[in-house]
Amino acid sequence: MIENVHVAPVTGPEIPSGYIRIEGDRIVALGAGPAPAAPGATRIDGSGCLATPGLVNTHHHLYQWASQGLAQDATLFQWLVSLYPVWAAMDAEVVKGAAAAGLGWLALSGCTTSSDHHYLFPKGRGDLFAAGIEAAREIGVRFHPARGSMDMGESKGGLPPDVVVEELDEVMTATAEAVDAHHDPSFSSMVRVAVGPCSPFSASAELMTASAALARSKGVRLHTHIAETLDEDEHCLERFGMRPVDYMEKLGWLGPDVWFAHTVHLSDADIGKLAATGTGSAHCPSSNGRLGAGIARVSEMMRRGVNVGLGVDGSASSELTPLAGEMRQALLFQRARYGPGALTARQALELATLGGARNLGRADELGSLEPGKLADVVLWPVGSFAAAVADPVCALVFGPAPPPALVLVGGRTVVAGGELKTVSQDAAGSAGAAAHRRLVRLAEERGVQVDS
Ligand SMILES: [Zn+2]
Repeated sequence: MIENVHVAPVTGPEIPSGYIRIEGDRIVALGAGPAPAAPGATRIDGSGCLATPGLVNTHHHLYQWASQGLAQDATLFQWLVSLYPVWAAMDAEVVKGAAAAGLGWLALSGCTTSSDHHYLFPKGRGDLFAAGIEAAREIGVRFHPARGSMDMGESKGGLPPDVVVEELDEVMTATAEAVDAHHDPSFSSMVRVAVGPCSPFSASAELMTASAALARSKGVRLHTHIAETLDEDEHCLERFGMRPVDYMEKLGWLGPDVWFAHTVHLSDADIGKLAATGTGSAHCPSSNGRLGAGIARVSEMMRRGVNVGLGVDGSASSELTPLAGEMRQALLFQRARYGPGALTARQALELATLGGARNLGRADELGSLEPGKLADVVLWPVGSFAAAVADPVCALVFGPAPPPALVLVGGRTVVAGGELKTVSQDAAGSAGAAAHRRLVRLAEERGVQVDS
């Protein structure tokens, strides 16, 4: 029983002083005023705190924790070309350490569900896909890994070197195995697998269509990068004679089971297509800013009915970006582009919660505080310095967001008092640093020069 707390349920009216009652892994009641009698309940005093749904991260590449701070001033294509050879050296140990740090860091910014898009599987380096899942299980957050892929190396006109791509048949076999081994479709699931060929400039049309067919036969979701930069626009026009969203439409890749990362460079017609088909967008403002990609038309997408969630994107293009901070970044980007009415604090909170849950197909379970939904709840301390702001949602989103006082995932404590409770926080941080050192060493052993 969380009591004396300001509740922002995202759906329904806010409760300035109320309670949230949790039984097992579900929310069973919430309301205004003092908490009702509940014999035997654990009582948590939420005085000075704002309660929100757990934040949902809908785009990430956890392995990139190990390659932060490189190619600091590069465009997306330059950045990719300089990092592909480094990433080619990764193994399961690098992925496990990077994922432990990356997911621990996310939990510390109020994230209770994270996707991951892993699309490089160098041969003979262990089970990279399982390594991320193992880390998520230890940290205790819900995990939506996309089994990514690339089959279009340089020799086939793609961007990545041939050494980091796979053959189509290998990808389809490994992806089907990943879904069969790890995907749990149940309510309250901790792991759901998606299918995620990387991008139009690294995955062939055959891989895209085969991936869509596989995902739909298995009842899992589809994810890829689309319309991130103008270079991609040019690449698609040159190779396919059409822009990215038209190309995706041609490949059968628009629909309510698809969410795209970025969607920065969209035409009015593109926005209409996403809205009409129920295709979602993962907005990653810090990464778009870091790589100078542009500012997505989020407020226009929202107005026209496109579902938008937030993503931190990989740590190599956003470094230590906390998910809560992306609410602020989204708000600032939209206002810088469209004016102060473009995005409110509450709309930004909805992007980070319900918008994310919709992208992952889990709006019935996650994304708002309602009886019957999963008890993924965050308490944000909005007292102390933040108490000068009377509106706690404004204090959270205009931020910077404070470290959460409590993060519950299915009623289980993952963070308390700003510290990870499921694993040693120091160990998770050290695992990330070790993953970085290991990746650099493995890359240098292969003759790759690693510098910024
Ligand atoms: Zn990405």
